[in-house]
Amino acid sequence: MGKGTVASLLCQRNEWLALSRSWTTRKRREGESEDAYVFVDQAHFKAAVEADGFLEWAWFLDNLYGTPLPGHEYVGCDRHILLEIDVQGAAQVRERVPSAVVVVLVPPSDEELMRRLQGRGDDASHVLARMRLADEEIQAAVAIGARRVVNDDLDRTVAEVGQLFRAAVEERCASS
Ligand code: 5GP
Repeated sequence: MGKGTVASLLCQRNEWLALSRSWTTRKRREGESEDAYVFVDQAHFKAAVEADGFLEWAWFLDNLYGTPLPGHEYVGCDRHILLEIDVQGAAQVRERVPSAVVVVLVPPSDEELMRRLQGRGDDASHVLARMRLADEEIQAAVAIGARRVVNDDLDRTVAEVGQLFRAAVEERCASS
């Protein structure tokens, strides 16, 4: 399963975690939920960038993606926000929120990654571009201090990432 599935299960199983809803200029995929993103055109997205409306934003393969700033309201010791974003965005979050915990999910094999990417209905050139990016993204994530978790089995992965988050929250919030 992809990181989107891991992210939503993490929020279902940890009531103190809330998933941020990103903005994107990507077209909605067939069968994709209408609230998977706030789907906007480039003019809307760029206007929000100009108005300083994002915690972070990035181009990812021809489309814009960003985390709207109201997400900040969730940050505290009883409520945390989960961002399911690419590594360029994670680097920006690290700058603005140095205490953010960054996790990179590593596919168990290239074959499995290919299978997951092909299962979403994107065209072949997009799938290939994402395959080419994958290793670079993992290395870039590790370079900004991300913890690597192998995404081999959904329940095991959700448990491991949940444990990493809980440990970080307990450590940070023990004295507050
Ligand atoms: P997809 O088009 O497959 O939904 O997402 C493409 C990539 O954009 C994924 O790596 C996803 O994690 C990332 N992404 C989704 N939302 C955001 C966001 O708000 N900011 C950034 N920087 N990346 C995002």
